[in-house]
Amino acid sequence: MIASNSYFKNLASGFLFPEIAKRRREYCAAHPDAEIISLGIGNTTEPLTRHIASGMNDYIKALETPAGYSGYGDDSAGELPLREKIATVLYNGIIKGHEVFVSDGAKCDVGRFQQLFGASVNVAVQDPAYPVYVDGSVMVGAAGKSPAVHGGYCDITYMPCLPENNFFPDLSGVKKESLIYFCSPNNPTGACATREELEILVSFARENGCIIIYDAAYSSFIRDSKLPKTIFEIEGARRCALEINSFSKSAGFTGVRLGWSVIPDELLFADGTPVSALWSRLTNTFFNGASNIAQAGGLAALDAEGLEEMRDLTNYYLSNAAIIAETLRGKKFSDAGVEVYFTGNAPYVWVRFPGKKSWEVFDKILDECRVVTTPGAGFGPSGESFIRFSSFGHRENIMEACERLSDKLSL
Ligand code: PLP
Repeated sequence: MIASNSYFKNLASGFLFPEIAKRRREYCAAHPDAEIISLGIGNTTEPLTRHIASGMNDYIKALETPAGYSGYGDDSAGELPLREKIATVLYNGIIKGHEVFVSDGAKCDVGRFQQLFGASVNVAVQDPAYPVYVDGSVMVGAAGKSPAVHGGYCDITYMPCLPENNFFPDLSGVKKESLIYFCSPNNPTGACATREELEILVSFARENGCIIIYDAAYSSFIRDSKLPKTIFEIEGARRCALEINSFSKSAGFTGVRLGWSVIPDELLFADGTPVSALWSRLTNTFFNGASNIAQAGGLAALDAEGLEEMRDLTNYYLSNAAIIAETLRGKKFSDAGVEVYFTGNAPYVWVRFPGKKSWEVFDKILDECRVVTTPGAGFGPSGESFIRFSSFGHRENIMEACERLSDKLSL
């Protein structure tokens, strides 16, 4: 028999969200009448918007005709008009269309980048972080052979991001020539890096031969005009960063699937090979391009009507988040020392319950309020004592969940 991939044995435990789903199932089995509300997973709930959906509908109708039919795209990087429209509309032309590589989503691109950089690269992650950065690194062997220690991996550099450092990490422990995962606006903390912070990050990466994988999947939620929406607003970033992004949260494409990565021409490996050249080689081998229907949706999303629809959609979730934050800032919670972190620039509310364990608080909220959340410890050691509240939900469910938290949660 064939042995299993030994790197998988290094994975700490199951992926966070299946574990949450398991606890929810167990709870429902014991309480069959319980009406559970989920403020857990970051999955969109509101329907596709009119203009964007009609872009896809029109495309589907055309596919039924000989003239409008198309099969595989010419290049896995996507249709050039979409690549160019992303560059001009979302990046105001500070990047070029050929530097945009359209994909089936940011998560899939993270996995492909991990394949691209391989097992020997040093890895640094914000702590807490979107779990895919760590688990994917473990799967390709980049986290070394050591099993988890203290809730983390020996060979991954964890960069604590806490209220105490304004959620911006001390970079001094990051090894030279590391791949630095940096997510802003951040999942799970909601923190959004300032221009000055990103300048520090970029100059550190330049001085130390690092490459930043900048995850901007939530950039469409940024409302503070002083905050950068892309790492490429920062001088020097073209030589040390690539960016991943997605229509998942902005256009409700979590199921439709459409994302992109930006790899500037100047981003090079040590031997001078452009990162984009090997990326093309890799993606053209393993990926046949994003769905052409989804790409039609992406084009519609970048029309004036589509942009307005995305703004309304993201405003809806931001208002949900504001309602959750306001509830948790109520007297009952502040008297108990609960700390609420919500910037208004991300769809998550990050909440510390001092002195308590995340999973303990998760179970308590589920048991007393029948509300599913996400335990911060699942995002890394520095997430301990925190809970992430997601704002992806119908307004009436958000209101009901907030009422239950106010009325029923014992602190
Ligand atoms: N990056 C971050 C930080 C996320 O939170 C998510 C999804 O929740 C993704 C990427 C995945 O995005 P996509 O749906 O485009 O794969």
